[in-house]
Amino acid sequence: MLLYSQKVNDVHRERWKDGDWTDDTDHVVVIMQSLLYNKGEAAYEVWEKSRNRFAPNGAVMRTSVLGLHQWYDLEAVVKNALAICKCTHYDPRCQASSVAVSVAVALMLQHTSKEKASGNKSPRPVDVTAVIKQAYDLACQALTTKEEKEELWWYMNCTKLKTLKLDEQDKIGFTYKCMGSAFWAFKQKDFQKALIKVLMAGGDADTNTAVAGALLACKLGVSAIPDPWLDGLVHKEWLDGYINRFLHLQEEMTLPIEQRTPSNDLDLKLLLDADKERHMKKEEERKRKYEEKLKALEEEKAKKEASTAS
Ligand SMILES: [Mg+2]
Repeated sequence: MLLYSQKVNDVHRERWKDGDWTDDTDHVVVIMQSLLYNKGEAAYEVWEKSRNRFAPNGAVMRTSVLGLHQWYDLEAVVKNALAICKCTHYDPRCQASSVAVSVAVALMLQHTSKEKASGNKSPRPVDVTAVIKQAYDLACQALTTKEEKEELWWYMNCTKLKTLKLDEQDKIGFTYKCMGSAFWAFKQKDFQKALIKVLMAGGDADTNTAVAGALLACKLGVSAIPDPWLDGLVHKEWLDGYINRFLHLQEEMTLPIEQRTPSNDLDLKLLLDADKERHMKKEEERKRKYEEKLKALEEEKAKKEASTAS
């Protein structure tokens, strides 16, 4: 077991208390707060000011939480992942890696939900290959050329961690290295072993393990995470508060509006705003069907009248 107390306090690491998390988790928390308080609009302003020609891992490191938000609607997941990625990381590879990770999380939640609804006593495990393929197909939409798509496929289907060269000099921050290590971890069965392997491979280790941990824990369940890693977190109570409120909101969003019980006005605003588009689509569909039915009835009536007249 690797414990927080075993951290070697060299010049780099002494800046963190035992159990403290790094900028990757900060990004996830900031997105969660942004969705709770201002619908993520602040992100757009940041992107306008800071276009970036490179493909660093800043967006993919924080994207896993976007697989939870509206997880039942893949179109919304892709849209949210792209919008929040593009605010700081416009490179198509950053967009593709953000979509791939967010969609994979959402697909796993959809799978769990279906299994629960089916009432299976022994739920079927997630089909890792199918999740990767579907996540790849949606992520590809951010890319243009065949070469770009082949590169994405290679990183998402990596089976040997070494081939990712996570500690490659001057390239440790490349978005596909992080995404590749996460999809490698996604194929593993032991959370602790997999995370330690990614960590020990070096490079941008906190970032790689943040995303790898998100995908593998989502597949295996929270019980797969070693207790000391959770219990020893320095801001655990504060983070749990946000997580619980966020998960409660996600649950509320799957209910019909009249059955929702938002805890305050801000929660209600988020629920309504996030759902506006979905409800508008449903309403349009209902109107279209109604008009079709009306037209069919009128046509039938006209035929009858014509046949009576003749
Ligand atoms: Mg990092």
